[in-house]
Amino acid sequence: GLRSICISRASLSKSSIRNFSAHIGSKLEGKIALITGAASGIGKETAKKFINNGAKVVIADIQTQLGQETATELGAHACFISCDVSKESDIAHAVDYAVSKYGQLDIMFNNAGIACHTPPTIVDLDLAAFDRVMAINVRGVVVGIKHASRVMIPQGRGSILCTSSITGVLGGLAQHTYSISKSTVIGVMKSAAAELCRYGIRINCISPFAIPTQFVIDEMKEYFPGVEDQGLAKMIHDNGVLAGAICEPQDIANAALYLSSDDAKYVSGHNLVVDGGFTSIKNLNF
Ligand code: NAD
Repeated sequence: GLRSICISRASLSKSSIRNFSAHIGSKLEGKIALITGAASGIGKETAKKFINNGAKVVIADIQTQLGQETATELGAHACFISCDVSKESDIAHAVDYAVSKYGQLDIMFNNAGIACHTPPTIVDLDLAAFDRVMAINVRGVVVGIKHASRVMIPQGRGSILCTSSITGVLGGLAQHTYSISKSTVIGVMKSAAAELCRYGIRINCISPFAIPTQFVIDEMKEYFPGVEDQGLAKMIHDNGVLAGAICEPQDIANAALYLSSDDAKYVSGHNLVVDGGFTSIKNLNF
């Protein structure tokens, strides 16, 4: 009864009560989510956030060992499926796996992406590298939308998310193949939104500022050779644009939670920029 709840609450330390209220929610109670690129970084943080809000999450990633470790770390409401988003059969299989295991698919987060390490000028454009980046960052998203829709249209509901980038909004901030891929993701999302709204399916993008995940550290190594990972992370940290704050995977996970929950039930075709004000600043020292 109430008394025993009061006693057990009293026996909790202050910090565990704080954790309890900070992490447990129910915005995605009973929902099933599939997240690509969820072995690490933004995808992993989002998987954690979704589970803490009542969802069950299928982690799909090309890194099998890390993906399995992540699923184990996130507990009973997470599972792993090996998936290379540049292969349609892998994405189809991951979607079918989610449905056969849990009976439905409510949220598809097309988050997997890679950087592009090729010469920076368009004159020297390496088309093999271009095709590789487009196969993962764009085609992987298109195919993710295709197979999620296959399941969500008969359900008459669903929420699809895609990870773009502020480079996709502004262009020219990162290597241009990457910028092209990320601006295309926004275009793909908008045309899919126009088609899918009649089925009750919402689709949105999130465009993060630079976060010192492995992906960004690896990309920056190209431009700042000799600087250690910690130095690169500090460089991003020091250039955080909102006073006193850096962009963290947690900020993107919060945006993903909002967009995939019923709080955003009338939001579709939107690109949510999470950049601490970066895209509105005219003069940069980055
Ligand atoms: P990350 O390297 O921590 O995570 C990316 C994950 O995608 C990895 O687990 C990787 O194994 C997986 N992956 C790569 N290729 C794959 C493939 N072919 N199939 C399936 N999985 C694959 O980096 P992150 O920062 O979390 O990146 C997630 C997304 O965020 C990417 O789309 C990236 O472009 C985008 N993004 C990142 C930043 C940033 O600053 N970190 C900024 C804007 C956008």
